[in-house]
Amino acid sequence: MNDCLFCKIVARTIPATLVYEDDLVVAFDDINPQAPTHTLVIPRKHVTSIAELEDSDVGLLGRLMLAGNKISKLKGIADSGYRFVINIGEDGGQSVFHLHLHVLGGRHMAWPPG
Ligand code: 5GP
Ligand code: ZN
Repeated sequence: MNDCLFCKIVARTIPATLVYEDDLVVAFDDINPQAPTHTLVIPRKHVTSIAELEDSDVGLLGRLMLAGNKISKLKGIADSGYRFVINIGEDGGQSVFHLHLHVLGGRHMAWPPG
């Protein structure tokens, strides 16, 4: 999808601070961090949101989260704890319509979320 911001990051046509990548996912730091660690993990393939995934995508979804665990180690927050967030659609607060997992840490996370 040519006009997708995150597809452009995957294609390296716009810059990002890459944190991790493998055959299925790419991870980079959020441009507007909400915590000392705020990294986004995205599938290389364009998926608009988690809502469009099917049973056959279970491997991709698992790899997205396992990459989040790897990032927690790379960022030094594995022991202190961290939070995964996936916003879905308008009420979910999604603003970029290419599936992404937020990995947040380095400070205490409040609950409930806003
Ligand atoms: P959402 O609100 O869709 O769950 O999250 C989108 C995230 O993408 C936001 O946290 C926002 O700061 C981040 N973001 C938006 N544009 C860019 C960009 O050009 N580069 C990077 N690295 N992050 C971005
Ligand atoms: Zn995309």
